[in-house]
Amino acid sequence: MRVHHLNCISSCPLGGKLMDGQTSTVFGRGGLCCHCLLVETEAGLVLIDTGFGLRDVADPRGRLSHFFLALLSPDFREEMTAVRQIEALGFSATDVRHIVLTDFDHAGGLDDFPEATVHMLQQERDDALAQRSWLDRQRYRPQQWSSRKRWKVYRLGRGEGWYGFECVRDLAGVPPEILMVPLPGHTYGHAGIAVRQADRWLLQAGDAYFFHREMNLSSPWCTPGLRFYQTMMEMDRRARLANQDRLRALRRSRGGEIELFCAHDPFEFRRLAGRPMSLPAGK
Ligand SMILES: [Zn+2]
Repeated sequence: MRVHHLNCISSCPLGGKLMDGQTSTVFGRGGLCCHCLLVETEAGLVLIDTGFGLRDVADPRGRLSHFFLALLSPDFREEMTAVRQIEALGFSATDVRHIVLTDFDHAGGLDDFPEATVHMLQQERDDALAQRSWLDRQRYRPQQWSSRKRWKVYRLGRGEGWYGFECVRDLAGVPPEILMVPLPGHTYGHAGIAVRQADRWLLQAGDAYFFHREMNLSSPWCTPGLRFYQTMMEMDRRARLANQDRLRALRRSRGGEIELFCAHDPFEFRRLAGRPMSLPAGK
C-alpha cells in the first residue's frame, strides 16, 4: 500500500520557540504541522485525519473556536487542504472512501469528502455530541459535521491486541492493514492509527504526544509551551502520561518494526515526508 504524508494546514502558535523548539525567538509565532496520511488501498483511498478543510479556509470564524484561532493562528492556504493535495496527486475527492480519525481536533476537512465513511471510537463521538464543557464546545464543532450520517463508531475490548495495546481491527470496508489503537488521555476517545507498510508499521499517534523528543528513550523532553498546551487540552492526565510511557516502551522494544510519529511535530513530518511542512504533496 502506498502511503503519502500530507501536512493539512500548519498552525502558528503564540510562543514561538517555546512551542516548536525551532523558531528563533519566543516572540514570533511558531510552526506546527497537521500530519495526515493518504493510503492507496484496494478499497480506494483511505485518509488518516483530515486537518482543516476548504470550508475552514473560506470561513474560519464561522467554523472554528475564536479562542483557538487566536492561540494557534492556522496558516489557511487552500493548497494545503487534504482535498487539494489529493487532487495534486492526481485523484479526486470522491476517490476517498474512508477517513479514520485520531480525534476531532483534526477533522475540519471531513466536509470535503462526500463519499467517505468516517471511522472513530464511539467514545470520541459520544463526547463530541455531548458538548459537556467549555473546552468541549471549543474543540468539537458541529459546523464541521455534514458527514454525520456516514460516521461509523467502534467500542473497545474485542479481539486480539496489537503489540500489547488494545486495538480495533475490523474497520468496516477498510483493509486489515489499517487499524485503530486507542490512546486515551488527550481526549477519552483518542486513538492512534496503525498502517502496515511492507515489513513495518507506521503508527500515527495523533495527539498522544506533541514533540518528537517526548519519545526520546533516555531523557524525554517537551518544550514548555507544548507541555502547557497538552495539559490544557488533556481529559485524563493519568491515561495520557501512561500512554506516553507505553509508546516509549514500544519504541524501545520494537523501534525497528514500528515508525512512530505524532500529528503536530514538524521534525517528524520532514523526516517521513521528505519535504518541509510548508510544501504540499504532488508539487
Ligand atoms: Zn491535534
